[in-house]
Formats: sequence, structure tokens, C-alpha cells
Amino acid sequence: MALISILGGGESGVGAALLAKSKGFDVFLSDSGVLKSTYQETLRENQIEFETGTHSLDRILTSDEIIISPGIPEKTDIVKAIQAKGISLVSEIEFAARYTKAKIVAITGSNGKTTTTLLTYHFLKSAGLKVGLAGNIGQSFAKQVMEDQHEVYVLEISSFQLDRCFQFKPDVAVLLNITPDHLDRYEYKFENYIASKFRIFQNADANTSCVFWADDEVLKVNLANISASARVKTVSFNTKADAYITADKIQFEGTELNLADAPLKGPHNAINMAVAMLAAHEAGVSFTQMLHSLASFENAPHRLEPCGVWDGVEFINDSKATNVDAVYYALNSYKQPLILIMGGVDKGNEYEVLDPLVKEKVKGLICLGTDNAKLETHFGGMVPQLFATDSLENAVKKGMEWATSGDVVLLSPACASFDLFKNYEDRGDQFKSTVKRLIHG
Ligand code: ADP
Repeated sequence: MALISILGGGESGVGAALLAKSKGFDVFLSDSGVLKSTYQETLRENQIEFETGTHSLDRILTSDEIIISPGIPEKTDIVKAIQAKGISLVSEIEFAARYTKAKIVAITGSNGKTTTTLLTYHFLKSAGLKVGLAGNIGQSFAKQVMEDQHEVYVLEISSFQLDRCFQFKPDVAVLLNITPDHLDRYEYKFENYIASKFRIFQNADANTSCVFWADDEVLKVNLANISASARVKTVSFNTKADAYITADKIQFEGTELNLADAPLKGPHNAINMAVAMLAAHEAGVSFTQMLHSLASFENAPHRLEPCGVWDGVEFINDSKATNVDAVYYALNSYKQPLILIMGGVDKGNEYEVLDPLVKEKVKGLICLGTDNAKLETHFGGMVPQLFATDSLENAVKKGMEWATSGDVVLLSPACASFDLFKNYEDRGDQFKSTVKRLIHG
């Protein structure tokens, strides 16, 4: 019997193990770290062999195919050994997509993936379709494919998953934008990361819709990577497009969305809404239906999430802004003076693009991290006041001290959270509870 090994026992790895087992493969799951006890139970119940705390390379190298978690970098010894042996190495997405006939809408980009994926899912579900939501969100795609109850899947796809996609051919492929991120995983070469993102379109043909934001500088110069036969649908602020965003509207063929009525604010969210509406339209939902269902959409937390008002000062949790581009859009979403809280683990950030907005809008910068030196050096001479700390409580207190009525205290870090927090959710939750406590205390 053919052997499939799975590296990494998170949601996607365990889901892939279950699907592989149900398709009659011998399955071995290997995780060099610890495996959640619920996942261990699931694997035992399904007679799937697994190991934790190590990778038994000799055994893994006897596999016919290996499914790798997106968390394992390409440069690790185990990946090199697998490549040297020429064994097929794929993502959970590539593997699971082989076993479903349902339509697939796949969404990638540097920023806005989760918002756009949730929006698209909301439009399809509200239209009465049987929809699965997967990829970086929710339950494993592979696990859902095993039960295969859905007519369509909406998948949020990261570049790490795309790196290990080869035949994957979504019916609707969406690329929101490309700005530098995760360069530590791409040999610090932006072109490698761009190539990874464009893999979403690599198998596009006349049966594929390719949806993208046409004003994106990087996308614009790489369009030759999209097959000329594919159905292209674009969003733009500048020229007539399938979705044309003006100051107060998004115009689609035959209809329009008034931005004042939309549940999400800011220019980036206009792009996300336009892209999601085009994607859902390509999957068969009418614009009119979507205009009705949009009002009931609620975004996930930690994305420009209002979390308290104190003496006329608004507190916003944008903990999910883990790169510079997300902060750029966050700064653009407010007209009020800002106290900006930034910092954490720097992923090779270049802050220059923020300079004009910081000079114009930021009246105080609070650097929150174990190492704030880079931020202090870059922004030191640019803002009227700067405070560096490794305490979230002191950061919020300083924000309250500096802010006056009408200001916004914005946590939009541009960095990963792992120096002081478990993850971005933990950072956002702690920010919200600290704000609440200090407001009411
Ligand atoms: P992702 O899943 O790609 O990380 P999210 O929807 O979770 O995207 O948003 C992450 C961060 O990026 C948030 O701070 C959000 O405000 C910002 N953002 C959302 N959409 C866009 C966009 N189209 N362009 C730039 N930034 C965006």
C-alpha cells in the first residue's frame, strides 16, 4: 500500500491524515513539536500512526508522497532531504483538492485575505449555497473534503501553501495585493515571494476566473503570468473596471454599492468588498443578492476593531496588522490625530512608505516590544513624542496620557507578536482587556 507521510500535526496536517486514511493510504504523521491531545485522540481513534518530538527521517524518506504543514520552512534539513530524494512534497490544499468536485474559490494576497474570504463565504452562504470555509480559517479543508457535503469551498490560501501547490486549479482564483511580507521565508528576495503568490493563477485557463486589484503596483507589472485565455475580473480606483471604486461608491456592471451603507470602512475594505463581490459573482451569486446580505456581515476581530471610548478618545485594536502595508491602510482609514502603538518581532520591515502618513497624522508613537531600537531610530526624529516600552499596560497608559478628545489610540503593530505575546489574537485580546480595565478603573 502506498505510504503518505504528513509533517506537522496541526489542523491541516491532522485533516490531511484523516483524508489520506479514508482514501486507503498507509499514513504516518510526524511532528517535531508537541501535538494537541485532542488531535492525538483523533489519530488514535482512526488508527493513524504518529510521532511527536522528532522526525524519523529514514521512515519518512520511504514515503510515496509527503504532505507538509505551511509552518515548516523550505530551508529546513528535512525538506532538503526529501527534495534530494525526489519525493513528491505537497500542501494539504494540493492533496485535498484532488478529492472534491465542488467549486473552489481560493483567495490569497499579502493583506485582506481573511476579511475577503469571510465576505465571500458570507455572500455564498446567504445566497443559500452549501459552502465550506477552510484554508487558513476554521476546519481543515481535507477534513471537510472527506465528508464532502459542500457545493463550493472558499479557501484562504497563504504563500506557504501555494509554494507546495502544483495541479491545484481553483475555479475562481483571487489575488488581492502583493507587498513585502514573510521575506525571512523567501531568502529575503521579494521576487521569490511574488512568484509564490502568482502560483494561485498557475493553472488558470478558459474555465477559470482570475480576480485581482488592478492598481497594485506589483500585480500590474506581472500580469503576463496569467494565462491569456483566463477570464479576468478587476477592481480599480483609477479606471473603469469590473468593479470601479470612486470616492463614495463601488460600481459593478448594472449596479452599485454605496460605501456609506457598507459595514466595513477604509479604502482597503472597499477593495476587499469589491473583490469579494466579484468572486462571489463568478461563483454564481447575483450582485443584487449581495447588496442585501452585505448589511449582516460581521468581520473577524483584531482588524481595525473598535474597543472602547474614553473621554472622547477612541481605542482601536488592529493587532492583525503584522506588516507595514496593513499599517499603511490603517493610518489611511482615520482623519483624526493618532497615537500609534507599533512594534514586536520585525520581519525585515522597511518603514519608509509610512513616513508621510506618520508625519501627517501621528502625534505620538509608542513602541511596544522587547527590542524597539529599529523603530526608535527610524521614527525618532519624525514624531513629536516617542515612548518605548515592553509593557502593554504602560503603552496603553501612555496613550491615555497623550491623547485628547477626538484622537484615536491605534494598536497597529507592523510586526509579529511572539516577543511578548502568544500570537496576534493574544496581543489584541490583552490590548482590549487592558483598555477596558483602565477605562473603567
Ligand atoms: P490577512 O488574512 O491577509 O492577514 P486580514 O483581513 O486578516 O488579512 O487583515 C490583516 C490586516 O491587514 C488588518 O490590519 C487589516 O486592517 C489590513 N487589511 C485588510 N485588507 C487590506 C487590504 N486590501 N490592503 C491592505 N491592508 C489590508
